[in-house]
Amino acid sequence: MSAKKTFNIYHTQATLLKAMANPVRLQILRLLGADGTYVCHLALALRRRQPYISQQLSVLRRAGLVLDERQGLNILYRLSDGRVREFLDSLTLLIPGQPESTTPLLSSEPLAGCLCPHCARSFGLTAAQVCRLPEPIPAHGPPQPTSLVREST
Ligand SMILES: [Zn+2]
Repeated sequence: MSAKKTFNIYHTQATLLKAMANPVRLQILRLLGADGTYVCHLALALRRRQPYISQQLSVLRRAGLVLDERQGLNILYRLSDGRVREFLDSLTLLIPGQPESTTPLLSSEPLAGCLCPHCARSFGLTAAQVCRLPEPIPAHGPPQPTSLVREST
């Protein structure tokens, strides 16, 4: 193999590692199962805003680690290669004192309150074609109907 070709492999490896080198992106890679998942599911699972998750997904997609596929109104994201998962497992083994059995696995189980097609289907919901997050609950509780608010005099 020529020196130039060898350099290119290392360059490509560095590009892949740079794309992975972020805790949220590593968590996203972990959550993308064989069936793929949706941005709203990732946002809910990782307690991040959807635009932030989309941004991280685009970094992973540009590096070729993640594929996206339009499904009606939604976009399904999946790992481009199942070996990414094996790589992440190997990475965990390099953490000093990290026993193999306690690899922090993120659950790929359906999430309560998630309206992505996977979760909605598993909770028996129908016509949940739109991936959306539940409305955030205001810190002071749900808004009160004005008729019930006592006038302060
Ligand atoms: Zn979901």
